[in-house]
Amino acid sequence: MERGVVEGSLEGLRTVNRGRVVEALRRRGKISRAEIARDTGLSRSTVSSLVGDLIGEGLVVERIAGAEDAGQGRARANGRPPVLLALDPSAGLALGIAFGHSHLRVALADLSSDVLGERRRELDVDREALAGLDAAAEMASELLHEAGADRDRVIGAGMGLSGPIDHASGRVQSREILPGWFGIDVQAEMEQRLGVAVRLENDANLGALAEAAFGAGRGEQDLVYLMLSSGIGAGLFLGGRLFRGAVGMAGEFGHVLVDEAGPLCRCGNRGCLETFAAGPPLAALVSHSRNEPVSIEDMLALAADGDPGARRVLEDAGRITGRSIANLCNLLNPGLVVVGGRLAVAGDLLLEPLRESVRRYAIPAAAEAVRVVPGVLGERAEVLGALALVIHQSDPLFV
Ligand SMILES: [Zn+2]
Repeated sequence: MERGVVEGSLEGLRTVNRGRVVEALRRRGKISRAEIARDTGLSRSTVSSLVGDLIGEGLVVERIAGAEDAGQGRARANGRPPVLLALDPSAGLALGIAFGHSHLRVALADLSSDVLGERRRELDVDREALAGLDAAAEMASELLHEAGADRDRVIGAGMGLSGPIDHASGRVQSREILPGWFGIDVQAEMEQRLGVAVRLENDANLGALAEAAFGAGRGEQDLVYLMLSSGIGAGLFLGGRLFRGAVGMAGEFGHVLVDEAGPLCRCGNRGCLETFAAGPPLAALVSHSRNEPVSIEDMLALAADGDPGARRVLEDAGRITGRSIANLCNLLNPGLVVVGGRLAVAGDLLLEPLRESVRRYAIPAAAEAVRVVPGVLGERAEVLGALALVIHQSDPLFV
């Protein structure tokens, strides 16, 4: 049984096969029909028929292989150069979907990375996995409708989740970190709802890609993207590419140990960085001191207005996070740490104590080598990374 196919549905099978052809074109840039057949495992006649449709719709264009395509396609028996196929960048569209812990953002862009529309919705993402997937599909349909765009032009969707992703299975890797999503074939569920190929990625990894490609980290080969929001995560972009680890667990920075006698964490350990520096425990501290409910946004507004309690918890969060970043600098020696996520709007109030901890606790040479800067893409970093995952898939940066 293939992914996302409703059993017995020929229409569904054709949609999935079409997605595989588009995926092969997206991944390889320019290839021949024969190579598509080899890549996808589909028969040549199926490939020819699907490619015919795609050319008819203007999504795929034929190009005669030139000298720059050496090695691409095989010369025909008659000695003429082979005809290669490519996606037409002016015709295709990409969807980006980014789930935070408490909100969902969906964007539609063309293949030149121009964002045509974007939506955001509050949602208890962690507890409502299937409802979240439904909402994402609904928002995607609304965006397509508003743009007057045909769903058939969408070549794929990138999707970010706030948890470790197992790329082999398309599932969430940890029962503890994202319990509502564990055991669900997230990729297949989303593909079924959207009717296009979906690529899953951890949200901090998407932030790292976006800042490396379009943001504060352009040109940087060794970068850590630190996401400080309701949860804490890190995207490790090392040697010019994402580092995911053996099973996709790399960058679970919110769960490094700060104090073994500290508060119990949602991962089941005690005293993880998240229990000291993520948005909810900080807002809870401010709530306690003010004796009224304070949201993360309230806390940030209070800090901006000079409230001493709100400023104190954000400074402390910066200092504590900086200690763990110092360890990371000793291990990985990044040239840049880009700080993003909801708490990053606190700016230097958070970043100065963080930099101070790095200077104090990292090996001097590692501390001197690293700059700690705020992200420039803000809360859109993850959704832009999700779009980039689709649009630039043949770029080595995104492999
Ligand atoms: Zn933890």
